[in-house]
Amino acid sequence: MRDEPTLQLSEIFYSIQGESSHAGYPCLFFRLSGCNLRCSYCDAKYTYEEPATSTPLGALLNEATRYPNALIEITGGEPLLQVGVYPLMASLLAAGRTVLLETNGSLSIARVPKEVVKIIDLKCPDSGMAEKMDLSNLDLLAPHDEIKFVVSSRTDYDWAKGMIHEHRLAEKAKLILSPVIGRLAPAQLAQWLMDDGLPARIQLQLHTLLWPETKRGV
Ligand code: SF4
Repeated sequence: MRDEPTLQLSEIFYSIQGESSHAGYPCLFFRLSGCNLRCSYCDAKYTYEEPATSTPLGALLNEATRYPNALIEITGGEPLLQVGVYPLMASLLAAGRTVLLETNGSLSIARVPKEVVKIIDLKCPDSGMAEKMDLSNLDLLAPHDEIKFVVSSRTDYDWAKGMIHEHRLAEKAKLILSPVIGRLAPAQLAQWLMDDGLPARIQLQLHTLLWPETKRGV
């Protein structure tokens, strides 16, 4: 019998999905530990600065059964760094669950099952990580997948606009622009979006609006 996979977990929490076209639905989050990027605005440093909890795959699947109607999001850190993420996704899909995967855009999604809703964070220049993006992922998207641009400035916005046009991204996935709070006023981003009529939606982090004082576990 093969050994049961073990995943390195940063946290597990039940909350409201807040950062995609699924925003607003109840969602169980598996936040995997570790990240290969260091974005300038990172608000999840604890995923790579604090110790992880080794968790067997079966324990995660049991946890999922406690919330039978919730979405399940696998996030990080960067979840694709761990090989155990593949049996986790496969098992959740086999159980009939809707699975979202949030990934930082630097690693290939080629092995991710088509049924998984992939939310790719395409890093803009102000993150300091734009050069790390694996752009071959843009040819592996399904219509239910999403590309998110986290925008800090006009430079970032213009870069996102250029990527949307150059790679015809609106034909490949749903597009989201999200402002970095404290760096860019949401109304400013909304105005740019309206002025250009981009085929994208602006999104504020719903969980941050719901629980402004809570930094983790939401
Ligand atoms: S990819 Fe996410 S977790 Fe990793 S450094 Fe960037 S913001 Fe932080």
